[in-house]
Amino acid sequence: MSAAGGGRAGSGTGRGQQAGQESGHQAGQGPGPADRDAGSGPGSASEQKMRFVYALRSRGVTDPRVLDAMERIDRGAFVRGHFEDRAYDDTPLPIACGQTISQPSVVGLMTQALEVGPRDTVLEVGTGSGYQAAVLSLLCRRVMTVDRHRRLVTEAEALFRRLGLTNITTRVADGSHGSPEQAPFDRIMVTAAAEDPPGPLLSQLKIGGIMVLPVGQSDAVQTLIRVTREPHGFRYDELRQVRFVPLIEGLGQT
Ligand code: SAH
Repeated sequence: MSAAGGGRAGSGTGRGQQAGQESGHQAGQGPGPADRDAGSGPGSASEQKMRFVYALRSRGVTDPRVLDAMERIDRGAFVRGHFEDRAYDDTPLPIACGQTISQPSVVGLMTQALEVGPRDTVLEVGTGSGYQAAVLSLLCRRVMTVDRHRRLVTEAEALFRRLGLTNITTRVADGSHGSPEQAPFDRIMVTAAAEDPPGPLLSQLKIGGIMVLPVGQSDAVQTLIRVTREPHGFRYDELRQVRFVPLIEGLGQT
């Protein structure tokens, strides 16, 4: 299984992201839109992106493929309303259905820990805004992403189409059961916290496969862990403390 390094570029992601980048800016900082979009001065889209990538690096995201993917996927496209102003801050933000788009450095660290290769098929549980799935889609062959809220899945699908990310498949389902029809997976990422790694997800991981997920009580600080399926069992590595919304059973109301 290939680890980080090399890999295929996602198809046709340029235009949509470009438009998104140009409309994003820091709240209450820097010059107005006309100045901001011109060239590379303070507050410009390119400077904003530089700061975004710098913040990722300073928080431990060092894999060049992950940094490249996160530079190319415009987080601004995945955040709505007045929170757009904070799209490039290293902070989680609210999205529809009472959920959150994860903090960029956590997205980076989880993606890095997953060691995704260009031929991998990846299952993501917890589509949310679709941002994490979009980043993964530039690093692997195929992403299957599942969320229990239909509204989130519908909105994410529209974004994937707009950005030309054609290797992402979506599903509305309780992702704690995994996706038996598409299993086994090379990689699994869960972006909502369970008390323990769900059994069906463990069994849908290929031998040699890796799963990254937060575990712990939903209202407490959780631990991000990496589970590696070995020929005769599973290896568990603790990565860091995190805070995610809980993995909830069944489908959402919307
Ligand atoms: N990865 C997302 C952030 C996810 S927030 C992003 O990049 O924006 C966690 C998501 O997990 C929420 O959208 C929530 O609806 C979803 N979720 C919680 N429990 C789930 C379950 N059992 N099955 C599928 N999705 C679930």
